[in-house]
Amino acid sequence: MSQKKTAKKTTTTQKSGSIKKKVAKKMSKVIEKKLVGKKLPTREMISLQSVRGMRDILPGEQSYWQQARKVLELEAEEYGFGRIDVPVIEFENLYRQPIGPDSEMVEKEFYTFKTRGRDDVVLRPDFTPAVARAYLQHGMNMFTQPIKLFSTGSSYRYDRPAEGRYREFQQANYDIFGEHDPVLDAQVIQIAYRVLQKLGINDIQFQVNSIGTRESREQYNDLLKSYFLSKKSKLPSKYRDIIETDPMRIFDATDDKTMQVCAGAPQAIDHLDKESREHFKNLLEYLDELDLPYMINPLLTRGMEYYTQTIFEIYATDEKGMKHALGGGGRYDDLIESFGGEPTPAIGFGFGIDRLVLEMKRLKTKSYQPPRARVYLAQLGDLAKKKSLRIFSDIENAGILVAESFGRGNLKEQMEQAQKMGVEVTLIVGQKEALDGTVIVKNMHTGTQETVAREKVIDAVKNAMKQSVVVKKVRHKQKK
Ligand code: AMP
Repeated sequence: MSQKKTAKKTTTTQKSGSIKKKVAKKMSKVIEKKLVGKKLPTREMISLQSVRGMRDILPGEQSYWQQARKVLELEAEEYGFGRIDVPVIEFENLYRQPIGPDSEMVEKEFYTFKTRGRDDVVLRPDFTPAVARAYLQHGMNMFTQPIKLFSTGSSYRYDRPAEGRYREFQQANYDIFGEHDPVLDAQVIQIAYRVLQKLGINDIQFQVNSIGTRESREQYNDLLKSYFLSKKSKLPSKYRDIIETDPMRIFDATDDKTMQVCAGAPQAIDHLDKESREHFKNLLEYLDELDLPYMINPLLTRGMEYYTQTIFEIYATDEKGMKHALGGGGRYDDLIESFGGEPTPAIGFGFGIDRLVLEMKRLKTKSYQPPRARVYLAQLGDLAKKKSLRIFSDIENAGILVAESFGRGNLKEQMEQAQKMGVEVTLIVGQKEALDGTVIVKNMHTGTQETVAREKVIDAVKNAMKQSVVVKKVRHKQKK
């Protein structure tokens, strides 16, 4: 751009700037006039409580979360899952039908609302239908199958809050589309097992069951209805109410009376079609081969109707003998077809990360240790602080992890913090150094220090780090 043009542009910008200022001044005068004599509205009290069932995860807990997320993501990578992120909000009917329009989850736990555009939407209560929608929407059915997808994020259920049960909670999901072989059912269970082992959660049990194809499940549902109707007088009213709509959920009961009734109920496993029986038998053989800690629970059911054949849940037992579900999943061979796609078998499962973290804390397992800074940057005075910003980013750009506390003004405190962090090198920029364009480089292991020009600081840091590694080795040998 020519000098002339630049000059012209500057003048125009200056002009428009001064016009804007004038307009702003005029506007504020108008507003002032309007407000004269008017009472300002009193402020509404703001509650400093998070919404019931929603919670903050504070820095002190984050190391467990980081460890859990790292292992979950690593395992997905190792088994060839591609990550997919889906929206938190979906159309309500994407979930209503597959989960079961009469189910308790839809009736009582959905967070639904109408958007300004009058769409009925839901905060996702689970990932599978959203991931299945994305699979079809983006034509993944046209790619070579199976397609393995990993997803993670918040889910929302209007549940009764308790420890380990929140209205917003985090899930990690592994879904495989396009393969019916039971070896994949075994593989997802193996992934779950490996995640738990890597997190140090060893005392676990997989409960597995097969609920057959949709047809055999419908027949079985009818059998269950008849059975529970014949025992209706022995059931509490909350279960009587769901005999017709959701009889399988009665198996979730934990009170003795209902559990006794359930013990005599027909079991899905005895009413499987031939193909489902064969599929389940093969799965059990694979699980035996993999030596996984499982038991068959013929009364196991899942809250969502979209499941077919294999279902499973993963439990940990605490010191009081209480079981906690850490995750669960199963086959959903009809879901893609029910969304209008070609028949596409699929299997998946989800972990509740909040529950994994609770379990890790209970077991005091190793939590994530973030990489340690090797250099600490201390500064004294405003000018030094300003100069330190550039030095900090230069060191980071050189791939060296550096810590600072720009908020602290006291050099003694900063040096104490550097000592506590166990860094190898501390850089000090005071008023004098800031003016001279220099930095003091202090080797924390030898105690020696030198003043170097700012441009030479990276080389000096690298040298000091090398020296300190040598000193550490010598000291280690001497100790032996
Ligand atoms: P589900 O598919 O309902 O079995 O959920 C999968 C996993 O998510 C469960 O095994 C739990 O670990 C976790 N989960 C489900 N609901 C909640 C909740 N309300 N709060 C915390 N975690 C949950």
